[in-house]
Amino acid sequence: MSNLIVLGSQWGDEGKGKIVDLFSEKFDVVARYQGGHNAGHTVLVGNRKFVLKLIPSGVLHPGVRVVIGNGVVIDPQALLDAITMLDQAGIDVRGNIAISNRAHVIFPFHRMVEKVSEGRADRTAIGTTSRGIGPCYEDKIGRRGIRMADLLNPAVFDTLYNFLAEDKATTAKAFGIENDLHIEEIRKDYMRMAERIRPLVCDTARLLNDAIRDGKRVMFEGAQGTMLDIDHGTYPFVTSSSAAAGGACTGTGVAPTRIDGILGVSKAYITRVGSGPFPSEDLGEEGERIRKAGNEFGSVTGRPRRCGWFDVPLLRYTAMVNGFDSLIVTKLDVLDGLKTIKVCTNYKAHGAVLDTMPPENALMEKIEPVYEELPGWPTPTSGLTSYEELPKEARDYIAYLEEKTGVEIGCVSTGPERNQTIVRKGSRMEKLIG
Ligand code: GDP
Repeated sequence: MSNLIVLGSQWGDEGKGKIVDLFSEKFDVVARYQGGHNAGHTVLVGNRKFVLKLIPSGVLHPGVRVVIGNGVVIDPQALLDAITMLDQAGIDVRGNIAISNRAHVIFPFHRMVEKVSEGRADRTAIGTTSRGIGPCYEDKIGRRGIRMADLLNPAVFDTLYNFLAEDKATTAKAFGIENDLHIEEIRKDYMRMAERIRPLVCDTARLLNDAIRDGKRVMFEGAQGTMLDIDHGTYPFVTSSSAAAGGACTGTGVAPTRIDGILGVSKAYITRVGSGPFPSEDLGEEGERIRKAGNEFGSVTGRPRRCGWFDVPLLRYTAMVNGFDSLIVTKLDVLDGLKTIKVCTNYKAHGAVLDTMPPENALMEKIEPVYEELPGWPTPTSGLTSYEELPKEARDYIAYLEEKTGVEIGCVSTGPERNQTIVRKGSRMEKLIG
């Protein structure tokens, strides 16, 4: 019975929501380990569309327990809104969800701090979603944050809240911004919300470890993608948490020795939202075509995503830092109809081939991608459900990516629906998923 981590191998939006939702039926528990309500997963179930920002996609399967781990930061209002949205769709969340008592809490003043930081002329705008997630992590690391357990203890909460609110008022003053935060109202709101959330909060590290001890299967769901990881991504154009596989352990309290496999999710091409280096970006017609065909607009913000070609050096790098056992390639159908498909096989900078991912953004920005062109396929892959049915050129494309990245591609997705997915027979993926 294997416990798996499923995470993004690019810059997020790889289609993890669909994959986690689909595989969830084989698991007893699905746990989110980082991020906040900025990670929009779009899941289509029949003609119903769910955008899940905070609650793990596993929630759409009755009987699957969903956990929000200690590594996640939680805006109580966003959590309650998500629960209401699912309740109204007839999905029982309250009976199935467990929230870590060690998860940190987002407050309205975190959003204020983020806006100040993003708006400053002397600071590079990261292109965040301005939901206060980064500043909440800052307070966590700064050891002045407020955790779920603190929120639920009125005396402790009062003291910590006074300190944090004062701290933010000082920041507002220092930056000369209008401080229209109603500190006392916020305090009361949070105390009210705490009572609604209280029954859902527990020691989720214990819950997960007990589940594993009892032979239950746990899936760890990553949000964003490895290239947005605070340590391993294109810093500073990253998110504020550990999206890479290691984050699954620190973000849930489950040891690496309890994890049996790590699956990466990648698009058949690549996209990025917000600022930052993007070596294989296509700013021309073909990039636009991919954006339209793939409906590449942010599920939380609606922002158009930047589009480009599959990046082999990037994938090799993310495979290294995550130790992928197998890859899921999504949105193969989006490439249907292209005469040729480019793949970035190498990076060159200052005339020389780079053999590692450079940490300097200035260098990343200067990279000249080296492309190989592969033939497109004559008939569509959209909706196909068996590997053998895929046109030969599409299978060749998959084989090429496997060879270049050195990672098995054990699953291919040919559409947004659950059944538009091919798990390859005899693959390591098939064994791990079970
Ligand atoms: P996530 O955050 O990684 O889950 O990705 P998003 O939800 O932001 O984006 C994935 C989008 O692509 C969603 O609208 C999915 O319904 C859709 N999708 C997922 N897999 C496929 C696929 O194989 N083909 C197509 N055409 N759409 C897909």
